[in-house]
Amino acid sequence: MSDPAPVQHFIRTIIEADLTSGKHAAIATRFPPEPNGYLHIGHAKSICLNFGLARDYQGTCNLRFDDTNPEKETEEYAGAIQEDVRWLGFEWNGEVRWASDYFPALYEYAQELIDKGLAYVDDLTPEEMREYRGTLTQPGRASPCRNRAPEENRDLFQRMKAGEFPDGSRTLRARIDMASPNINLRDPVIYRIKRAHHIRTGDQWCIYPMYDYTHCISDALENITHSLCTLEFEDHRPLYDWVLDQLSVPSHPRQIEFSRLELHYTVTSKRKLNQLVTQGHVAGWDDPRMPTIHGMRRRGYTPAGIREFTRRIGISKSENVVDMAVLEGAIREDLETKVPRVMAVLNPLKVVLTNYQEGVTTSRGAGFHPSHPEFGEREVPISREIWIEQDDFAENPPAGWQRLTPGGEARLRYSYVIQCEEVVKDAEGRVVELRCCIDHETLGKNPVGRKVKGVIHWVSAAHALPIEARLYDRLFLDPEPDGHKGRDFLEFINPGSLTVVSGWAEACVNAAAPETRYQFERLGYFCADRFDHKPGERLAFNRTVTLKDSWAKEQA
Ligand code: ATP
Ligand code: MG
Repeated sequence: MSDPAPVQHFIRTIIEADLTSGKHAAIATRFPPEPNGYLHIGHAKSICLNFGLARDYQGTCNLRFDDTNPEKETEEYAGAIQEDVRWLGFEWNGEVRWASDYFPALYEYAQELIDKGLAYVDDLTPEEMREYRGTLTQPGRASPCRNRAPEENRDLFQRMKAGEFPDGSRTLRARIDMASPNINLRDPVIYRIKRAHHIRTGDQWCIYPMYDYTHCISDALENITHSLCTLEFEDHRPLYDWVLDQLSVPSHPRQIEFSRLELHYTVTSKRKLNQLVTQGHVAGWDDPRMPTIHGMRRRGYTPAGIREFTRRIGISKSENVVDMAVLEGAIREDLETKVPRVMAVLNPLKVVLTNYQEGVTTSRGAGFHPSHPEFGEREVPISREIWIEQDDFAENPPAGWQRLTPGGEARLRYSYVIQCEEVVKDAEGRVVELRCCIDHETLGKNPVGRKVKGVIHWVSAAHALPIEARLYDRLFLDPEPDGHKGRDFLEFINPGSLTVVSGWAEACVNAAAPETRYQFERLGYFCADRFDHKPGERLAFNRTVTLKDSWAKEQA
C-alpha cells in the first residue's frame, strides 16, 4: 500500500513519546468490533487509525471481536467484518481474537475481585438497581447486598455460573464507590445471568461479562499498548483503569479517546442501519446507498479512496461531522487516474445518420485514458443509427448552448461532426428521433471554415451493449437525520435515493468482471455490480460518484 504520508495528530505524538522514552519497544493496537452488524464508514476511521498506526510504527494490530452480547451477534456479521478489514487493505496480527476466548480468564479475575472484597453478588432487580444508582446530582445508595462476605459472594457467583438462578435475578458488581460523581464507578455490573446461545461458546455459559469489564482485561491479556476508542468512553476510562489496577494482569494499556466520525445526510449507528435493513428501506446491508463498508464497496468506492478520506479528516477530540463532499472527493480523485474511460448513454435518444455510407463512414480508435496510454485503446465503431443523451439536444436552447439544436452542429466524441436536419416527434409531441447528416471531412479534423465547440458522447446502436444503470442520491433529505429531538430519523428518508435506468454502453465493457470500474464520459464513475452479474444478462452498473461535486453548492 503506497498511501500518502500520514497526518500528524495527538495520538501519534503520544506514541512517538512512548517509543522515544522506551516506555514501549513496540506498539500494539487492536480493532474491537462487536459482530452485531456490518461495519460503517465510522468503523473505517477506527480501522485506518488502529491498523495504520501499527503499520507506521512497525507495531501490531489485533482484530478482536467483542462478543459479549450473544443475542445480537452472528457469524454472518463476524465474517463480513473480517472481509471488510482485508478489503480496506489491512491484515491483523495472528489469529482473529474473540473476547469469548477470555471467558474462563475473566471468570477467574472476577473471583480475584471477590476475594479482595472488590466485587459482590447483588440481588437487586434491574429497576431497583436503577433507583439505587442515583443521578448526576444525587449520590447512589448502597445495595443491601454490598457488604456480603467474600465467601458468600464466591459461592453465589459459582452458583450463578452453574445455572442455579433465573436470568436477571442476580448480578456481580464491582465494589467501587456509590457516591462517585462518575456514575460508571457506582458499583457497575460486571456479570449478568443470561441464558442465550453464543456463536462461539454455545450454551456453555449462562453468565456473561459486561463490556467495560471485558474490554480492559482483553486489552491487557493481549498486551495492547494503546487502546483507542471513541469519546463516549472517556467517562469509562476510570473504570478501565480501576479494573486493571486491582488485578494481577500482564499489562496495563492506556486508553485514549478520539471523536467519532459522523457524515452528513446519513447515519452511522449499527442499530439504525439495522433498522433500515430489517424494515426494508434499503435492499440489504450492502445496498450501495448504505454507509456500510459493504455498501460502499458495492457502489464502487475504492479502499485507497476510503483510506485517503480518513487521512484527510484527521484524528482529534473535537466534533467530527463531515460533509459527504469530502468522502466523494477522495473517491473521485482516486478513480480519476485509475479507471478507463468509455462512453455510455443513459437516457437514449435515437439519431439516424442520413448520409451514413458503409465503407466510407469509418471509425477510429480511442485511448481508454487521456494521460495513461498504457491503459490501451479500443475501436469506437459507428453505424447508421446511434444513441445520444436526450439532454444533449434542445429544441429551444438557452443562451450559450453548445450541443445539438435543430439545424445546429456538434461533434460526436472520437468521431465526426454532425448536423441536425430534422426532429421527429411522436403523437404527444415528444422528440423521439433526430435525423442528422455527417460531415465526412471531420474525422479527426476540424471542420473547414467554422468552429464546432460542442462535443457529445454517443454509442453506435448496432454495436452497443444494453446496460442497467443505478443512480444514487443521498439516502436522507436532512443533513443530520438523527439530530432532531422527537423526530425519528426514518422520517427523513429520501424516497428518490435510487433511480434505475436502461441505457447503452460501448461494447468493450462486455468483458467487465464484477467490480470493474469505468468512467462513463460526462456522466460519472460506475462500477459493475458485484452480485447482479450473470453471463448473458444485461450488465448492471452502479454509479459510484458523479464527475463533479453536487453537494457543496446545495449546502451553500
Ligand atoms: P455503533 O454505534 O455503530 O454500533 P459501536 O461503537 O457500537 O458502533 P463497535 O463494533 O463497538 O461499534 O465498534 C468497534 C470500534 O469502532 C470501536 O473501537 C469504536 O470506537 C469504533 N467506532 C464505531 N463507530 C465509530 C465512528 N462513528 N467513528 C469512529 N470510530 C467508531
Ligand atoms: Mg460498541
